[in-house]
Amino acid sequence: MKRLSVVTNLTDRLLALRRLDRTRTWESLDDLRVCRCCGKKITGRQIEVIAAQGKSEMRLLCPTDGCSATMSDWIYPSERRRVLNGWNRPSQSLVPVPAT
Ligand SMILES: [Zn+2]
Repeated sequence: MKRLSVVTNLTDRLLALRRLDRTRTWESLDDLRVCRCCGKKITGRQIEVIAAQGKSEMRLLCPTDGCSATMSDWIYPSERRRVLNGWNRPSQSLVPVPAT
């Protein structure tokens, strides 16, 4: 039977985040991400780092109860803003260029 243990050491946690999350950068454990599944903001401190006992491979899990999202579902808060801005931004070609 596989037993799971949670990585609680903060240094190991940051190293695990950096090693496992190849799409985004973790500067520190206070970095913020938005989970696309549950919509909550989470930091590196809150993310569950799970290690299968006796194995070196680790998994990252969303700390929200009932949310099974993992690192590919976490985006920068600015990424979400960019998407919203993209939808609401008026087309540049409609803005008249002021005559000088
Ligand atoms: Zn989540």
